[in-house]
Amino acid sequence: MNCHYRGMKTETLACHAGRDDFAALTVHAPPLDFSSTYPLHDLDEAVAAFDALADGDVPAGTNPVYARLHNPTVRRFETALAELEGTADAVAFASGMAALTAVLLAACEERRHVVAMRPLYGGSDHLLECGLLGLDITWVRDETEVSAALRPDTGLVLLETPQNPTLGVVDIAAVVAAAREVPVLVDNTFATPILQNPFAHGAAYVLHSATKFLGGHGDVVAGIVATSRGRAARLRQVRVLTGALLHPMAAYLLHRSLPTLPLRVNAAQRTATILARRLARHGGVERVLYPRPDGIQLRGPGAVLAFEVSGGLEAAARVMGAVALITPAVSLGSTDTLIQHPAGLTHRLVASEVKAELGITDGLLRLSVGLEDAEDLWDDLAHALAAARMRAAA
Ligand code: PLP
Repeated sequence: MNCHYRGMKTETLACHAGRDDFAALTVHAPPLDFSSTYPLHDLDEAVAAFDALADGDVPAGTNPVYARLHNPTVRRFETALAELEGTADAVAFASGMAALTAVLLAACEERRHVVAMRPLYGGSDHLLECGLLGLDITWVRDETEVSAALRPDTGLVLLETPQNPTLGVVDIAAVVAAAREVPVLVDNTFATPILQNPFAHGAAYVLHSATKFLGGHGDVVAGIVATSRGRAARLRQVRVLTGALLHPMAAYLLHRSLPTLPLRVNAAQRTATILARRLARHGGVERVLYPRPDGIQLRGPGAVLAFEVSGGLEAAARVMGAVALITPAVSLGSTDTLIQHPAGLTHRLVASEVKAELGITDGLLRLSVGLEDAEDLWDDLAHALAAARMRAAA
């Protein structure tokens, strides 16, 4: 944490973090540096900078040498997100999946076993399950199974909370205690740093698909990992080696979105709470999945919920086809509300029997609530649910 910000609230950090060099640069918006290479007139200095950056360091004022090693626009976004998550450092990647891959490569270089808690985002589940990285995976369902799943070669314990798509909440501190010295990665995409800071509960790595709430406008694909300085240095080395860079334009857009993150998350959460309550009372809805915050780890339920429509796959498909204001699309955390069918789309590659065990049923729809008026959204949802029922009866 920059001592300048000590004691300041999240809203203030969201507006100011990562902007400390603006006064010296005499700018008010983050400068965009698109350079792929940098002039190197002094070879000794260039070699020293190259060595430092290749070691994963970010020495102040160093010539970036080459864009795969460092970019100042990306660095400002990383600094800001680290402040928001309360970590010493953060490393940004081209996508959430690139960020997850980098952590798996860094944490499991020697210890090739991973304990992973289900459910996870379908892409994360598939990355582990498909064997691409040559890792050995033990799947667990909750905190109580972690300890018994550990092996001498376990390099990482991995979880999401709230979970995608069934919105279960995992006790991070309990998992950290069960994992003992094994580092724990928490995917904080759904909660955002506004509602939850996993590092404060002992997580070693805090991962975001920045494509979602951090970007917030549906126009950026990105990932970021907030962590300690030592772990960040290794992640930067992996990023240099694998080239999974975040483009400076994406970093600019992400940094631009941070000041409104608290406002967006809180407004969408208010509306999601209204919709969750109404859906729970609707005759065409069998169950609503929406997190229960404890006010300590999870400070609010967030803006994503899931609900099961009566009538299974056909009814779910009809609702997706009948919404007019809400966009039927994967992803989440945008200004507009999105609805999608996890079993058929985001979790398509998860085996059917695993989906059944996890409650990812054919009638389940996931709703990412945006910033529209709650009544307008309810009208659209109620109309789509009625249309689905009418067609089922016809
Ligand atoms: N983690 C979660 C919880 C997600 O929902 C997603 C994508 O939907 C990812 C990670 C992967 O992120 P990206 O799509 O930015 O690669």
